[in-house]
Amino acid sequence: MRVIPLGTNSGKPTLKRNVSALAIAREAEWLLFDCGEGTQHQIARAGLAPNRLSTILITHLHGDHFNGLPGLLSSMGLDRRTNDLTLIGPQGIREYLDVLARLKIMFVNYPIELKEFSSVANPSVVFETKDYKIVACGLDHRLFALGYRLEEKPRPGRFNVQRARELNVPEGELWGRLQAGNNVELKDGSVITSAQVLGPIRPGKSIAYCLDTRPCLQSVELSREVDLLIHEATYTEEFSAEAREYGHSTAAQAAHTAREAGARRLLLTHFSSRYPDASPLLDEARAIFPETILAEDLQEVLV
Ligand SMILES: [Zn+2]
Ligand SMILES: [Zn+2]
Repeated sequence: MRVIPLGTNSGKPTLKRNVSALAIAREAEWLLFDCGEGTQHQIARAGLAPNRLSTILITHLHGDHFNGLPGLLSSMGLDRRTNDLTLIGPQGIREYLDVLARLKIMFVNYPIELKEFSSVANPSVVFETKDYKIVACGLDHRLFALGYRLEEKPRPGRFNVQRARELNVPEGELWGRLQAGNNVELKDGSVITSAQVLGPIRPGKSIAYCLDTRPCLQSVELSREVDLLIHEATYTEEFSAEAREYGHSTAAQAAHTAREAGARRLLLTHFSSRYPDASPLLDEARAIFPETILAEDLQEVLV
């Protein structure tokens, strides 16, 4: 999976950092987490095709995570999008979009499947495809905010071409059936099992997205052993009182969450404008959790 931060500043955009949005691209589709103002520009700069956007996940209804949504939805209408879009987020989105539609500010002519939540106490599956599932959980912010986890399902093992040839399985349809996990019968009546030609099952990757939030048990639960935890780090420890008051985390707190959860790597984002250079946040987090990196607008991270 490719993780592409589209905005890494908190509250308002700066010249170098846009407000919150992040794309996760996998195979032919991509998913958008949060949609601050100006996200459309960042999508274009990242070279992401809006018609391949399958799912938008909004964490909470603060403007820096949400103000870009009507513009993006409208533009996809102008582009004559026809494929479905899944939209997941806190309760209030439907009402907001209905008002915009009633006032004729926004016009959407393609199907949107909206899933709204007013509380999710424990990590729960809120969306599932044949390839992955999305787990959500309420975090600890000034208003209801959802954290998300994208979890790929395990994939069948790699197909061993050489082994298939040695077993005299003719190339073509039978290979496909073996790759899909079925057993096949050859012309001479012998049966070849998929286990004979497939390698070990490949576990899926997982990514958690926790912003905005104070440090809390829910983000630890949501991030258990993820390959990448994307966590907000609005402040350094010097401003921990502000972090607490405004419902945010310090870089050190994000690092503690990553460590407690057993995450493999931590990607910090959502930096206060008081840090034009975010390296103090990185230093603080790395002292606790060395596998930390800083998100930068449009700088891709592979998972
Ligand atoms: Zn925010
Ligand atoms: Zn917020």
